[in-house]
Amino acid sequence: MADATHVIDWDAADRWLFGEAWTGDRIAEHARQLCDVIGPRWSGTEAEWRTIEYVRDQLRAAGLDEVEVEEFDMACWSFSRAAASIVGGPALDVLPFIRCPSFAVEADVVDVGHGTTREIAAVGERLAGAVALMTMAAEPFTTPVPHAYRLRDVATAGATAAAVIDPKSGERREYHSAHDARDPDFVSPPLPCVTITREAGARLRRLPQPRLCFDVVTAVETKRTANVHGVLHGRDWPEEDLVLGGHHDTVYGTPGGNDNGSGTIATLETARVLAGLRRENGAAPGRTLRFVTYAAEEQGFQGSFEFVRRHYGAGRRPRLAINLDELSAGHMKGIVLGFDHLRSLVQGQLDSMGDGLQCHVMSQLDNSSDHFPYLADGIDAAHLWRWRFRGRHADSDYHHESPDSADKVNVRELKEYSGQLSRLLLRLSCVLPEDWPRLGVATEEAQRRVNAERGSVVRVY
Ligand SMILES: [Zn+2]
Repeated sequence: MADATHVIDWDAADRWLFGEAWTGDRIAEHARQLCDVIGPRWSGTEAEWRTIEYVRDQLRAAGLDEVEVEEFDMACWSFSRAAASIVGGPALDVLPFIRCPSFAVEADVVDVGHGTTREIAAVGERLAGAVALMTMAAEPFTTPVPHAYRLRDVATAGATAAAVIDPKSGERREYHSAHDARDPDFVSPPLPCVTITREAGARLRRLPQPRLCFDVVTAVETKRTANVHGVLHGRDWPEEDLVLGGHHDTVYGTPGGNDNGSGTIATLETARVLAGLRRENGAAPGRTLRFVTYAAEEQGFQGSFEFVRRHYGAGRRPRLAINLDELSAGHMKGIVLGFDHLRSLVQGQLDSMGDGLQCHVMSQLDNSSDHFPYLADGIDAAHLWRWRFRGRHADSDYHHESPDSADKVNVRELKEYSGQLSRLLLRLSCVLPEDWPRLGVATEEAQRRVNAERGSVVRVY
């Protein structure tokens, strides 16, 4: 059990935290405001600024000690046109990949299957100047290769653009990117790419010699955005800190219920119950707790990179940063660390909570969300054991598309998340400094791992 130098009545604190998380919650109202009233929250837009103000006001109302809107400049991508058609046939419903450049082309379609080296070699010269038709999912049974790398091979073979088939069916298609934060080559896709539906891909594959015509207009501009940062000062070790956060932006055109209204709301709720506990029960965190909502996760984690740069330069580090992304995933199962040295410490704290929560450690540095900028710097960071894993919840299937609406925020499950996260954070804040094994790993060691893991598909369970 955690043990601060000041006395905490843990039974009373747990009862208060879980009771308040369960019966005092504001989850449904937050979901309504974020998803229905504000709606899509692409970073760099007016709607994102309304989100930033909403989060700031909520953190202030919760009674945190400091709430800052931390502005910065970001590279903001946008598109104003995405027209496509089968030459001599109907129009095609397409979405440009995030950071896709403008392009206008009419060319033959060459089917490259899953885009494996074998399949690209088989089509040979025909790919030069053509539009590659590629299945986004990796080829079954062979070692999976990220689609960014398969698209790079398609570009190297001379394709002028790629029509990438969404893995979902029923005319569903999501915004995708070929971004891979582990590799600076993949800030932008290696060639112009659009997503098409599975049904459109199948139709193209039935045609004898299809040609496609594209007219896509996009732009990248510098825009102002901000992370929102609230602080609850530690009573015993105010210079030491723990971070809990999740991104507040969405992709284009989605209300962002699961991705990431859920993580934004869990951050607000956890901050609210912990501030309430201190005010009404007197139990304060031992070390400082920082609550943050990040901008521009959907545009290359620019908000979390900025947060790490601003607060954790020159050797200053948090004890642990927990990232909340896409929590519409059934109840909380545990927490997943990037590095292994905190495993028994965190598992011990989870055991003291008595709900069977597990601490796991990833075999790779997960490049899928806002914990990556911390991990790449050698800082201890974690995400939650939840969706994408065995037994995934149906609602976790929704993220980068318009049906990811407010109803995908599962109110009762988020109550449990904020109850458990507040219990865990309070415990971790009270672990004696001498019982904390170490502060992350050397930045060089983390960078070596990032480089060594480039090109691999991150295994999520
Ligand atoms: Zn997300």
